[in-house]
Amino acid sequence: MQRGLLWASQNETLRTRLPRYRFVQRAVRKFMPGDTIEDALGAAESFAAQGLPTSLTQLGENVTTADEADVVTRHYLDVLARVSERGLDTEISVKLTHLGLDFDPELTYRNTERLAARARDLGNWLWIDMEASSYVEATLRTYRRLNADLPHVGICLQAYLRRTASDIDSLPTGGGIRLVKGAYREPSSLLVGPKRAVDEGYLDLAQKLALRAQQGNLRLALATHDVRLIGRIEQAANRAGVGRGAYEIQMLYGIRHGDQLRLIHQGYRVRTLIAYGSSWYPWYMRRLAERPANLFFVARNLFGRAPVAAS
Ligand SMILES: Cc1cc2nc3c(=O)[nH]c(=O)nc-3n(C[C@H](O)[C@H](O)[C@H](O)COP(=O)(O)OP(=O)(O)OC[C@H]3O[C@@H](n4cnc5c(N)ncnc54)[C@H](O)[C@@H]3O)c2cc1C
Repeated sequence: MQRGLLWASQNETLRTRLPRYRFVQRAVRKFMPGDTIEDALGAAESFAAQGLPTSLTQLGENVTTADEADVVTRHYLDVLARVSERGLDTEISVKLTHLGLDFDPELTYRNTERLAARARDLGNWLWIDMEASSYVEATLRTYRRLNADLPHVGICLQAYLRRTASDIDSLPTGGGIRLVKGAYREPSSLLVGPKRAVDEGYLDLAQKLALRAQQGNLRLALATHDVRLIGRIEQAANRAGVGRGAYEIQMLYGIRHGDQLRLIHQGYRVRTLIAYGSSWYPWYMRRLAERPANLFFVARNLFGRAPVAAS
């Protein structure tokens, strides 16, 4: 089921057809507040009122022209300005293929640098997502280059990839790391093993990074909804003399909101990533693949109201 959903996330025909169905459009609202930046900022304000800082990401990936990449870059510059005007503790998170990585890594670097510099000037932070394995090398290269002058930038690393342990050793000691399990369909030769091995690998990497964060100036975000694993990480960290202050927890909008609030009340630092935009299909299919039980939610939307195919 999971592999099928990840295959569907890359299928062009489904990408064009499925988003036209209203029941799919309704189901996707569980994971995102709406298509526009105003929808996302509205959600960020309501989360702020609950004590939850946020990050924003505009959905979209694999742009094919410099003009498209420029539009995305300008959009994020505008987001940073609006966040600052509203006084929100809201960061931005970008995908490098949304900024041009498929056709011009140098242009992508310049676009990302513009965002990182503006984020620094506004006292904000920029996160770089990690996409499929074919992009890992170029994404790390961009991050290393930025990190030399712009420490207010963090990168996502995926625990499911075998290479991640050595990638961690090759990264600068400062900056930021957001550790995730990994969301893409990858050949098994690149993976640490089945889900159980990914979970155990995540625990090991998190411990190692938490120690580094406590000793130095690394900002560490554990981006997972796996609250049992978070508990195990905390126990292991405690044994190593590493306190909760060394790391933060990040989760997605629409997933385990109650746990996010509970963790805040228990003294953890928690941040919610809010996605918005109209190009949600591949991203949404990856959310379904993470928990195929979400398909029941889609089905409820199908049977709850008459399915209408939008044009
Ligand atoms: C802030 C943030 C940023 C991310 N950025 C990236 C990135 O740049 N690159 C990348 O490859 N991946 C990214 N991911 C996704 C990540 O790789 C995982 O696919 C995702 O977080 C699910 O794994 P998990 O760690 O929550 O653990 P799991 O073991 O998959 O889930 C633990 C529990 O969380 C709940 N849960 C998890 N996913 C869902 C869901 N979709 N719907 C409902 N409940 C769910 C379930 O209760 C599940 O039992 C990001 C995740 C977060 C939170």
